[in-house]
Amino acid sequence: MDAAEYRKRGKEMVDYIADYLEKVDTRQVFPDVEPGYLRPLIPDCAPQDPESFEDVIKDIENIIMPGVTHWNSPYFFAYFPVASSFPALLADMLCGGIGCVGFSWAASPACTELETVMLDWLGKMINLPKEFLAGKDGQGGGVIQGTASEATLVSLLAARTKTIRRLQSEKPELTKADIMDRLVAYASDQAHSSVEKAALIGGVKMKTVPSDDMFSVCGSALKNVLDDDKASGLIPFFFCATLGTTSCCSFDKLLELGPICNKENIWMHVDAAYAGSAFICPEFRHLLNGVEFADSFDFNPHKWLLVNFDCSAMWVKKRSDVTDAFKLEPLYLQHPHQDSGLITDYRHWQIPLGRRFRSLKLWFVMRMYGVTGLQKYIRKHVRLSHHFEHLVLQDERFEICADVVLGLVCFRLKGSNELNKELLKNINEAKKIHLVPCHLREKFVLRFAICARTVESTHVEFAWQHISQLATDLLKTWKQNHQQ
Ligand SMILES: *Cc1c(COP(=O)(O)O)cnc(C)c1O
Repeated sequence: MDAAEYRKRGKEMVDYIADYLEKVDTRQVFPDVEPGYLRPLIPDCAPQDPESFEDVIKDIENIIMPGVTHWNSPYFFAYFPVASSFPALLADMLCGGIGCVGFSWAASPACTELETVMLDWLGKMINLPKEFLAGKDGQGGGVIQGTASEATLVSLLAARTKTIRRLQSEKPELTKADIMDRLVAYASDQAHSSVEKAALIGGVKMKTVPSDDMFSVCGSALKNVLDDDKASGLIPFFFCATLGTTSCCSFDKLLELGPICNKENIWMHVDAAYAGSAFICPEFRHLLNGVEFADSFDFNPHKWLLVNFDCSAMWVKKRSDVTDAFKLEPLYLQHPHQDSGLITDYRHWQIPLGRRFRSLKLWFVMRMYGVTGLQKYIRKHVRLSHHFEHLVLQDERFEICADVVLGLVCFRLKGSNELNKELLKNINEAKKIHLVPCHLREKFVLRFAICARTVESTHVEFAWQHISQLATDLLKTWKQNHQQ
């Protein structure tokens, strides 16, 4: 393909994507395929001779689309949203076109500098304390990670290095192995599985802290666990607080937890993967209070801020904490501007070396929506979740299982877990909408997350009528079976 054909095909592709997104509501939200469906549909190995673009594109509808779960469908209410907007799609196209790999300042100055400034913009939008901002000469700053999971891992590894160095400077006789063996990381029993994974990769123990009846971790719960562990010779070094848990969007009590972590030399990382986007609205910003005690903070614009995957925004108060943990300087990566104070080499802030020009997406989206446009978008989703909550509450057969704060409603039929499992199975087998469940303590619960950019109250009302009808059908047969 030469540039002339690219021009033509590029325009066709943009049309295809626009058609796809505009009409995604007409496609079945969840595919019909069975595991292994794809392999028999394509050749065993790559073609020896080139094929045409037409050959490739016709297989998109024949082979790919039948196996796609349509996350951007307004009938998709599963997991959490995946962000998508036209400005972000266009920026990603440009990112691919420039195709630089911005691991150091010199490797592409614009890639590095725009990222630093965009993270400052975004930090100011959620009113992060200024220690987290880079400014011209700040100690802190932001970085775009691929995912919230990577942000948690990076912060855990930084905390590990920092703790080991501190303890060895206090007691030089301690070996790194002695210390590693006793390090413990903590997170809520409601925390995302990526925290446990980070501890696994980081080679440290991980313990959960019990959440309260609102599914939040409070100060006394953390303190109890810390006291026990310190008494048995362990070294608490890392606590991952969650703002907006994945199961039910509960919030750990940062204002109680932060001072404890600070006093105990425990690195506090705040994972607000989903909820973080809402903090751009003044009425939700109070949920972030206490972040001033944190060492690092992360949320995913790729979930709820209209910036297509991948874009996880992470800030640290002291950039040297992170770079000290990851800095290696082989000759081929050195450049004459090093350590000038104005230079950020993002390779020291992340696991991989290579990195894409992802800040373009943030720049396009923040400029073309503006803060007010983004706030409006968040508020619409929150309004829709309350609309759904209201519909559920009007039906006495159902109960709401956790406070509805943002765009997620946890609900279930009053009755057994088996009944609710059957209801969810019927919902997902009908494939008119798509939901996923969670466990809240011993209860099996259905999660209804407001997801798509284009979802409206009509879709929410359709979803509720559908759920309610399936519940009616189920309860009829369920009662008969349980009376026999
Ligand atoms: C979605 C989610 C994650 C994982 O996000 P990735 O960016 O896919 O790693 C982590 N924590 C919470 C609270 C989440 O909701």
